[in-house]
Amino acid sequence: MKVLVPVKRVVDANVRVRVKADGSAVDIANVKLSMNPFDEISVEEAVRLKEAGVVSEVIAVSCGVQACQETLRTALATGADRAILVDTDVELQPLAVAKLLKALVDKEQPQLVLLGKQAIDDDSNQVGQMLAALLGWPQATFASKVAIEAGKATVTREIDGGLETIEVDLPAVITADLRLNTPRYATLPNIMKAKKKPLDVVTPDALGVDVKPRLTTLGLAEPAKREAGIRVADAAELIDKLHNVAHVI
Ligand code: AMP
Repeated sequence: MKVLVPVKRVVDANVRVRVKADGSAVDIANVKLSMNPFDEISVEEAVRLKEAGVVSEVIAVSCGVQACQETLRTALATGADRAILVDTDVELQPLAVAKLLKALVDKEQPQLVLLGKQAIDDDSNQVGQMLAALLGWPQATFASKVAIEAGKATVTREIDGGLETIEVDLPAVITADLRLNTPRYATLPNIMKAKKKPLDVVTPDALGVDVKPRLTTLGLAEPAKREAGIRVADAAELIDKLHNVAHVI
């Protein structure tokens, strides 16, 4: 059984995000970009399923600019078998990504697509759900545990009130939550081996997908700066400040 693992190249989780001076976009010039952390988790899960003998091939996919090849090489170094770059300079919105992934699913016929629950750049949390809808497949989002047996996936999901376990028939779409696993680091020998693994490049046109943006960003702004806190001597002073300074009581 094949698994498709979409991985997005995003601003590294440790970088302080800055908005461009004209408020048009996030400034990514000279900023470290890495694999979306939730995608590291989904790659790890797919590789573990392969090591357990449940999965025969792990295919990593990234949609975006040529530099996404670097992200794909990271996926290959952590155990994916081959990679596909959908090469485009167009700013991709979640629906466009979902359509590109659907076209790849039609071509590759995986039994499972294992995505991250959300990309930490735009925090959309949409692609997995949209892909499942386009494919007409069942979906199990926010997975913290996945077991696959006899054409079914048993998935424990993180929901507001705690955990929920559901069973979905394969083929299915699963999205990974934070507690699904702890991703491994790529070792140097595996980074070297990954350079020789196959990486195909296709275009949205070749997949027959129109990726034109359908949403317009009106503007981006930094969150308002928070003022420094103060230490109060006692409850009486606290009440006084809340009443006379913050005006909240
Ligand atoms: P989102 O709905 O944008 O928050 O993204 C959810 C998941 O969809 C991510 O964790 C990735 O697995 C996948 N994804 C989103 N954008 C891309 C992309 N450009 N290329 C590959 N996978 C993507």
